[in-house]
Amino acid sequence: MRALTVLVLFAAVISAHAAPWIACRVSGASIYVHAGEGDLARQVGEIVATELPRIRHAIGLSASHAFPIYVYRDSNEFHRNTQTSSVVRGLTLCPPGKVSVDAGEAGVELCHTVTHEMTHALLFQRLGRHYFHDLPTWANEGMAEYLSSREPFPFLAWIDVPFVQYGNVPMKQLSGEFHNINALRCQAAYAQSRAMIAWLEHRHPGTLRNALSGVAHGHPFNREITRACGMTMNDWYHGWYADMQQAKRRGAWVAGILVGLALLASLLGRRKRQFGVRLEPTSV
Ligand SMILES: [Zn+2]
Repeated sequence: MRALTVLVLFAAVISAHAAPWIACRVSGASIYVHAGEGDLARQVGEIVATELPRIRHAIGLSASHAFPIYVYRDSNEFHRNTQTSSVVRGLTLCPPGKVSVDAGEAGVELCHTVTHEMTHALLFQRLGRHYFHDLPTWANEGMAEYLSSREPFPFLAWIDVPFVQYGNVPMKQLSGEFHNINALRCQAAYAQSRAMIAWLEHRHPGTLRNALSGVAHGHPFNREITRACGMTMNDWYHGWYADMQQAKRRGAWVAGILVGLALLASLLGRRKRQFGVRLEPTSV
């Protein structure tokens, strides 16, 4: 990881009855941590430095203004201050585009949460306060999930395990607030939204960036998708769904062949051992 110098510009007491926050300014964001948590600020600063330019490019945002990221090492404090349930790891309020993340889990999880929430904050800047909420929930969450999941094999990004496990969620449910649906369906809703966005970018690269440009000028998301790639929303959903089913069938075939090969290898190994035992008396 490349080194990053975090400049501590100023310290400010945000709340009289909570531990004071220290603001650390990095390129594109102000990171708030509690006193003595400079290591956490540096860790999040590195994530911002790496991921923010990538997200901006993906959504077609040429320049962004700095937004606040509050980083909580204490999960209880995060849930208390953001009034979220225990399964939530991050929250972005739009407006004003304020990000809060639970840094109780480090490493890949923290990187995922920060990148996911930054995507919401930058989408808010891309579309502005007038049009940000015109974006369907699944498109907003799908882009945040897609851009925060660093796939080792990008062409497989649209084959999502939770979706395969829980089945598809109707588009009507995907348009509303995800946390209003039950926990398993909620997980599937995130997975399906991500998979649909990943499929679109796999089949028609650059469509999202072009469509967001139109939405930022007040045009409906659905119409802009059709203008950008020629597909209606129906075409998108059914095209993705058909490919998912085909991928599942192929996956079942591959799994079947692998199990068959493993059984064959085990059988051959056993026969070899038996053959070896039979030879022993004659070789003495
Ligand atoms: Zn989100």
